[in-house]
Amino acid sequence: MAASADLILYNGSINTIDNDKSRAEALAITGSEILIVGTNEDVKAFEGDNTQLIDLKGKMVLPGFFDSHAHVSMGGAEALFTVDLNDCESQQEAADAVKKYLDDKPDIEVIIGVGWGNAIGTGNGPRKEILDNIVPTVPVCLYSEDHHSLWVNSKALEIAGIGKETINPKGGVIERDPVTGEASGTLRESAMNLVTNNIPEYTVEQYKAGILFYQKIAAACGITSVHEPFMRNGNALDAYSQLEKEGKLTIRYRNSLFVDPEKGNDQVEELIAEREKHSSGTYFQTNSAKFFIDGVVEGATAYLEEPYEHIDSHGELVWDTQIYKETVARLHQERFTIHIHSIGDASTRIALDGLEYAQIKEEPFDSRHAITHLQLVNPEDISRMKKLNVVAVPNPYWFMKEPSYYFDIEEPYLGKERAERQYPMQSLIDEEIVAASASDYPVTMNFHPLNAIQLGVTRTEIGKSGDHLINNPTERTTLENMIESFTINGAYSLKLDHLTGSIEKGKKADIIVLDQDLFKMPEANIHQAKVLLTLFEGKEVYRDKEFTVVPS
Ligand SMILES: [Zn+2]
Repeated sequence: MAASADLILYNGSINTIDNDKSRAEALAITGSEILIVGTNEDVKAFEGDNTQLIDLKGKMVLPGFFDSHAHVSMGGAEALFTVDLNDCESQQEAADAVKKYLDDKPDIEVIIGVGWGNAIGTGNGPRKEILDNIVPTVPVCLYSEDHHSLWVNSKALEIAGIGKETINPKGGVIERDPVTGEASGTLRESAMNLVTNNIPEYTVEQYKAGILFYQKIAAACGITSVHEPFMRNGNALDAYSQLEKEGKLTIRYRNSLFVDPEKGNDQVEELIAEREKHSSGTYFQTNSAKFFIDGVVEGATAYLEEPYEHIDSHGELVWDTQIYKETVARLHQERFTIHIHSIGDASTRIALDGLEYAQIKEEPFDSRHAITHLQLVNPEDISRMKKLNVVAVPNPYWFMKEPSYYFDIEEPYLGKERAERQYPMQSLIDEEIVAASASDYPVTMNFHPLNAIQLGVTRTEIGKSGDHLINNPTERTTLENMIESFTINGAYSLKLDHLTGSIEKGKKADIIVLDQDLFKMPEANIHQAKVLLTLFEGKEVYRDKEFTVVPS
């Protein structure tokens, strides 16, 4: 007799996302694994006395989603322990939110806030005086929503020792008053470290709370695997390790260790030791290494082939190119998967130069390095990405003409022509590059993959319509491609495709049930579909209250 299943889902529309893109009616799970996928009849042969049955009544089933770049521990801790500035529409509103926070916590020694939009202070960024008026004696440090700029008051500048004479650190900008030359209150990229190095880190307990906070929301979005880039804090790493030991991780994490541009190859032994510490983790490992190579367009720090339109600058390269190449080559040799933040076309070229250099020096192996964001890419470099087997990690959440970004920042900073060719997607797929989509949470606060799946298809802000609002229409892609980018392609990029990413016999039972079939609904409504059930390795981690199962 066949082994009996713990759980059978039947009468479904199961999109397996296997190589043949096959569909099935039913699947059976035993323990953490998928026992069989097939017709109702095939699968019911595995029904035993203790098998739980769920009649899907035609509902759509997909593999659990991946988020291939989400700052889980940082975003979670920030959501719980800082001033939330996400809804502030002006510098004054943000300052008022800080004031309110201070009124509740009068003894606080430093105020941290997150989430102001770059549109509240275009050009030189928001000003210190607005914060000084409200909080003159306690340092105030407010991260922009993209975390690439920091708005501070005079007290924070004073503690950091930033004055008129302080020169910009490599890869960073201290914004200055055009008349006096004094620091005006906004710090970009590496210049932020001058202040943030003095801020106490979140504790292990705070990070743990943050990760658990994220997991709860993510489970309701159907997310079962995540890549958190940019782990550089011991407390965050300890938080993951402890949660793994306590059996509290309900997502599979494959995270990146941060590579410090100041340390080059001197840090490699340390990175190897850190990777080794987590190498036997089931749900938490750190097998990749994260490089920041440039900044962001909204901070005029993304590194561009042609200068910005609004200032005489190409942006900021964070790394010395030679040190970058040698460090990439060494980490490649040590079999790290390399994950590179690159926004500008010039920085993506340099990112690829490093990966090419690394691969020439070494016997070929299945490296699967990745470049994320890819806001502007020279078409020649798309072909190079394919040649070098580089995975693209795009952010479809940003595929739209959001007025405060597109019309107020991107068009004036980049010029109309460049703004119109942002964020390639279909041209990556045409080149057969694996595209594994990501939210960059908390840069994207609402990180539900169904939002991004819709945006990848429509490239139009949710709730809006009209041809003039389509962002780079030639880059629209199919629903099928978008689903793959959140499932099997994510698994490929994290070298988990043998384990999950599709619904196949022997793989882990990471499964979601949706209330509607995405292929049968209007494109503009995809975001309204709901996740009803999320299984992580066969265990239920989320169930919508409306999804009741009638015992059969
Ligand atoms: Zn990021």
